[in-house]
Amino acid sequence: ENGVTEEIPALPFPQPAKIQDIHHTKLFINNEWHISSKGRTFPTVNPATGVKICDIQEADKTLETMDTGKPFLQSFFIDLDGSIKTLRYYAGWTDKIHGKTMPVDDSFMSFTKHEPVGVCGAIIPWNFPLLMFMWKMAPALSCGNTVIIKPAEQTPLTALHVGALIKEAGFPPGVVNILPGFGPLAGAALASHMDVDKVAFTGSTAVGQLIKETAARSNLKRVTLELGGKNPCIVFADSDLRLAVEETQKGAFYNQGQCCTAASRVFVEESVYEEFVRLSVASAKSLVTGDPLDPRTSHGPQIDRKQFDKIMQLIESGKKEGALLECGGRAVDDTGLFIQPTVFSGVKDHMRIAKEEIFGPVQCIFSFKCLPEVIDRANSTKYGLVAAVFTKDMDRALSVSSALEAGTVWVNCYNALHAQTPFGGYKMSGNGRELGEYALAEYTEVKAITIKLSNNL
Ligand code: NAD
Repeated sequence: ENGVTEEIPALPFPQPAKIQDIHHTKLFINNEWHISSKGRTFPTVNPATGVKICDIQEADKTLETMDTGKPFLQSFFIDLDGSIKTLRYYAGWTDKIHGKTMPVDDSFMSFTKHEPVGVCGAIIPWNFPLLMFMWKMAPALSCGNTVIIKPAEQTPLTALHVGALIKEAGFPPGVVNILPGFGPLAGAALASHMDVDKVAFTGSTAVGQLIKETAARSNLKRVTLELGGKNPCIVFADSDLRLAVEETQKGAFYNQGQCCTAASRVFVEESVYEEFVRLSVASAKSLVTGDPLDPRTSHGPQIDRKQFDKIMQLIESGKKEGALLECGGRAVDDTGLFIQPTVFSGVKDHMRIAKEEIFGPVQCIFSFKCLPEVIDRANSTKYGLVAAVFTKDMDRALSVSSALEAGTVWVNCYNALHAQTPFGGYKMSGNGRELGEYALAEYTEVKAITIKLSNNL
């Protein structure tokens, strides 16, 4: 009983399996499955139904959907596809990581070697369990490191399934280890361990700060952080308005808004503001809420009750502070943890929904009058993860991109992430970069070797 609908249309991709067999619920260490030394277990729950996922066996390609509640097509075409592309991309780097030779004074020669950092811990969030695992494991392995992964306690299943695949693929024991557990215990143990040389973390800013403090107090291990965002989109009057609506909504509602990249502040130029709001409301209402395992579903449940309550509280604060609730704003019904796609217009910069990371399906639309004003407002946040600009004027797109304080700026698109392109935040959105060639620097030590030459010809 996992809430799978009876009739699923024949479509050109694998269909979700109706019965889920979970084989792997143990710790994956040295290519073996171990029970917890303290004998403790914890449940993982299907957020669409509230039913504990247990006593069921054999993992399948729908596993991610069941554990996270994200719509099946998103799991398949984004998470799985992105994971495969990340692995392929970094597989290509394995024999291309090398140092440089540099000209030096006198009778010396210097060159560098790029060596592995050592044991790399990865602490993974629940919003993209498989993809974040790959974003961390793939560059770490391509640089010759070993990896210890701690999946989020809400979503351990796909990581454990990958453990089984790793063993089947013939990895040497100990190269990849997977330790499901809770943040303050298993996560904190990784951050403080003297034999862990680096930690890569994705999650909340508060925990990111804790990890950095813990790392500083233990062995000064390297830390890369990918944290929150309150990401601005700027829509100019000359943009393709339908495209801007489509992309900003994708940004706001993708994965039920549970994305560090969520397009949570949309600034629209005054002259097209009303039309933009009208189109956005129509688009939000067209999303199909339902069973995430049904390929027709485009909007699933939130991950757990804690997140659900936090989002509902922020929606209430938006209403109280005077933003106009254009649509949504309520729980879909009493089952599961579904929240209607929600659009607020008339949002002002001082409101909580304008400042705090909502991590839910809530789009906040603001209006602006002129360029310097909107840049200033877009940058008035402690975060700096991503931003987007919609305009047909490429000069303006480039100057706005330069003025925005964000690690990524998308022009006339949103959530356009590629294995080749670095990703990471300015300000309190994090440190370091994942993906692309840039990530390799986070997983290598540079060793300089200098030789005194005795025979100077
Ligand atoms: P979190 O930061 O607590 O959890 C993320 C990961 O960190 C999990 O694996 C968790 O077990 C681990 N963790 C928690 N406490 C830890 C500790 N003391 N030491 C080491 N690891 C620890 O996030 P959450 O409580 O699940 O969600 C809260 C908020 O965080 C969300 O509302 C959202 O704003 C933000 N968040 C951001 C992302 C992102 O992609 N940047 C992902 C998840 C959550």
